Amino acid sequence: MISFREFRLNRQLLDAVADLGYEQATAIQQKAIPAILGGQDVLGVSQTGTGKTAAYLLPLLRILNYAQGNDARALIIVPTRELSIQVGNTIRDLSKYTDLRYAVVFGGQGAKDQIAAIKKGIDILVASPGRYLDLYLEGHIQAKKIKYLVLDEAERLMDKSFIGQFHRILETMPQKRQNLLFSATMSDLVRKIAADFLDFPIEIHIQPEVKTAETVSQAWYSLPNMRAKLNLLMELLKDEAGMKKVIVFCKTKAIASSLGKYLQRLYGEENVLVIHGNKTQQTRINSMLRFRNDEVRLLVTTDLAARGLDIPDVTHVVNFDTPVIYEDYVHRIGRTGRAFKTGVSLTFVNMADRYHLEQIEKLIRQKIPQVKVPRNVEIPETPYEEQQEMLREIDRQKRKENPEFKGAFHDKKEVKGRTMPKSKGRR
Ligand code: AMP
Repeated sequence: MISFREFRLNRQLLDAVADLGYEQATAIQQKAIPAILGGQDVLGVSQTGTGKTAAYLLPLLRILNYAQGNDARALIIVPTRELSIQVGNTIRDLSKYTDLRYAVVFGGQGAKDQIAAIKKGIDILVASPGRYLDLYLEGHIQAKKIKYLVLDEAERLMDKSFIGQFHRILETMPQKRQNLLFSATMSDLVRKIAADFLDFPIEIHIQPEVKTAETVSQAWYSLPNMRAKLNLLMELLKDEAGMKKVIVFCKTKAIASSLGKYLQRLYGEENVLVIHGNKTQQTRINSMLRFRNDEVRLLVTTDLAARGLDIPDVTHVVNFDTPVIYEDYVHRIGRTGRAFKTGVSLTFVNMADRYHLEQIEKLIRQKIPQVKVPRNVEIPETPYEEQQEMLREIDRQKRKENPEFKGAFHDKKEVKGRTMPKSKGRR
């Protein structure tokens, strides 16, 4: 398990990473961050959902360090409007404690605002290839300072016409550069671009873990909101004989923390363990020991506890949130069904999680059966803010699949942290 503190990043970036709730580096991050910080060209073969965006942005932001001059020093070429916005948002989130500046330019809409953003002075430019060339040829982009070039989701750029376009892009900038190329798949065209463009690259191939244990039976429930998830969890936990040793996985520390507190109020503090990155190492070890030794039935945690740990006799894994790093699903459910024992994995899925569930099913090449929520579980109305947040997320997913998709939400509002409803004390 590798924490971000082990890389040569700085406080500003580590604080931003912590705010995003990332607790440990993913496989691609573990390999790419030191290589990029070491000045090497990188060829990364890794799908979305593996954390590849932060894998190149974090070292890039560290190297660029602070705002300097007016012209971009790093260029990130991406295939679609949606990805360019997404990369821009990740830069915004990761650079929030630095003074680094960026602009995002892509076709399909007027260039005026994009040009204005560049003119203010930038350190990083995120661009689709066509729009980059247009703005360059019109004199709006100065490329002389570009020392870092990233090509992201290269497999989607790879038709023959792109190769010509790409060579023209390369001609606009200085030859002495560090080059990074990321692609979900390896094809002859990607190999060709890599050969043209990278100098003795470090090759990183991330094969996500896809094998789920046959001893684990999997199912998912459709639930409209957080409160409904909570009600189902309470109902399931009534089965004390069956659900003897349960890990509940949440997607953020904030959710794990408030769900943990909620359950502690109901079952007593000593009967529910909460483990996440904000707890000290010693607390985490002690909690884990108590759970291992069957002293406590319930463990609420983030993906921090998903990897590697060998805890015997876990009967149930509950995915209170569907994981967005899809491989984490495999790690999570691997906490049960160990040593030939059988285990059960239950995933709670809201409407925005459906997309992620489908991606997980693709990854593990299995259909996970849906089971009905028991009738006696109360399904409350979804609060307005939670509903909007899910709709925004669905818009983002649709645009990711189809950049032409015009969703109901074009703004990029910050998503506020959610909190658990107040418990009414012991039941
Ligand atoms: P990507 O593969 O870059 O599209 O990232 C997929 C998702 O994983 C995004 O929602 C990221 O915010 C999230 N993510 C990236 N790195 C981490 C990490 N180390 N821990 C948890 N989530 C991450």
